[in-house]
Amino acid sequence: MSPADGPGQAMAGLSSSDGFEMVSGWGGTPVTASLVVHPTAPDELVKAGLDAGPRGVIARGLGRAYGDAAMNAGGLVVDATRVSGVLDLDPTSGVVRALGGTSLDDLMRVSIPQGWFPPVTPGTRFVTLGGAIASDVHGKDHHAAGTFGCHVRSMVLALPDGSTRALDPESTPEEFWATCGGMGLTGTVVEATVAFRPIETSRIAVDTDRAPDLDHLLAMLTEGEARYRYSVAWIDLLARGRQLGRSVLYQGDFAPAGAIGPGRDPLAFDPPSLVPAPPAPSGLVNRWTMRAFNELWFRKEPKRRRGELQTITRFFYPLDMLDHWNRLYGPKGFLQWQCLVPFGREDLLRSVIESLSQGHVASFLAVLKRFGPANPGPLSFPVPGWTLALDMPAGDPALARLLARLDRDVADAGGRVYLAKDSCLHPDLVPKMYARLDEWRAVRERLDPDRRLVSDLARRLRLL
Ligand SMILES: Cc1cc2nc3c(=O)[nH]c(=O)nc-3n(C[C@H](O)[C@H](O)[C@H](O)COP(=O)(O)OP(=O)(O)OC[C@H]3O[C@@H](n4cnc5c(N)ncnc54)[C@H](O)[C@@H]3O)c2cc1C
Repeated sequence: MSPADGPGQAMAGLSSSDGFEMVSGWGGTPVTASLVVHPTAPDELVKAGLDAGPRGVIARGLGRAYGDAAMNAGGLVVDATRVSGVLDLDPTSGVVRALGGTSLDDLMRVSIPQGWFPPVTPGTRFVTLGGAIASDVHGKDHHAAGTFGCHVRSMVLALPDGSTRALDPESTPEEFWATCGGMGLTGTVVEATVAFRPIETSRIAVDTDRAPDLDHLLAMLTEGEARYRYSVAWIDLLARGRQLGRSVLYQGDFAPAGAIGPGRDPLAFDPPSLVPAPPAPSGLVNRWTMRAFNELWFRKEPKRRRGELQTITRFFYPLDMLDHWNRLYGPKGFLQWQCLVPFGREDLLRSVIESLSQGHVASFLAVLKRFGPANPGPLSFPVPGWTLALDMPAGDPALARLLARLDRDVADAGGRVYLAKDSCLHPDLVPKMYARLDEWRAVRERLDPDRRLVSDLARRLRLL
């Protein structure tokens, strides 16, 4: 967001840092202007929604949702990141209480040295607690741990009328689960209490395998499910023919204390400073540069390696090492598309990969994971199946038609796309993908009867 003064400055309760700003998702497209307020204390965050005009209000964390989930063109956006901090960490149970704007990075700097790791983490540590709950994020361990929401013990939600509600999965299950995955549209998370998992070291023992094609990959992921807590495959989407789906598979778990040599701090967590991504010319990411990149990545890994100790940053957050790597896609920005294909429809997964490969989609970030059971959240993305996620430069004129067809095929197969990553889904497909949408709407209506909570995503997909 880049600050610029605007008429909002005249509104009551605004501080000097509040005003009209340009806002976008992580993909950098589109960019729209909103009145953005920056509360710095929990009570300010709770009252922030009262300033919502006819275009409504939505909370925003660190802006890592790729599309328009944390955007509200012409309306009010509440930046929750300044209401942050760890309030309590029980060193014996690992239960952490923190404010909603606290980043996973900040949480880990406190928790890891005490032997506690977030129960679930997405592929970047620059997300807030509120953002992790609102998207009900998943990690490389969904088959073992479920989503982030599964580990939230309780939370305090601010409603747009200035009141708060305490939610937990036992006494308010409907509101709690409508909020986990509810994309900020049930209220703003002011604070939450989350059970972290114990670790003996901050290193992950990683097994690496190259899979020559899709069949081998799916077999290896299925076989490894019971043995590995974390698994993720990087797929070369430009490979075709017999090599279709060739991948590098990384699987592992935190190493035990004995794996770390003497004299080294087993729970050290000191991520390297971020290196800024260089300004990129338009078109840097294209099918030729990506083909070269993918070939190098595939070849750099051994066919098989066992027990390599990797740092948390390298294993979980390789992209975080480059600050604002999203700029590499140039001024036209990029899209992310993440789908879920149910088990038993591996034929569709293959045809999706074929379509992307034939469409020469230039992606250097295609990952495949295996999801376990769903949780009770009506809009929570993960359900049993395969999930494929990839980035694509937004400038490709053929992309809209390709993604429209893939979205339809995925919906017809009983699959869905991830709302936190979406930019171009057709609204008619949403009730098909998320069959419990009406159930969610009914709970949301109770929490926000005046429909003040709204985002560009909600308008585009007719969620409300
Ligand atoms: C490199 C990268 C890797 C990623 N990997 C994964 C992954 O592996 N798994 C995964 O699930 N996701 C992944 N994501 C997506 C990301 O985890 C989610 O989009 C997450 O919601 C971003 O959190 P944020 O704090 O940046 O929220 P924002 O992007 O600012 O907002 C996202 C949503 O959360 C809502 N929100 C934000 N703060 C609050 C609050 N305090 N109260 C209520 N609602 C709020 C917003 O309204 C919006 O709907 C990845 C994103 C990137 C950029």
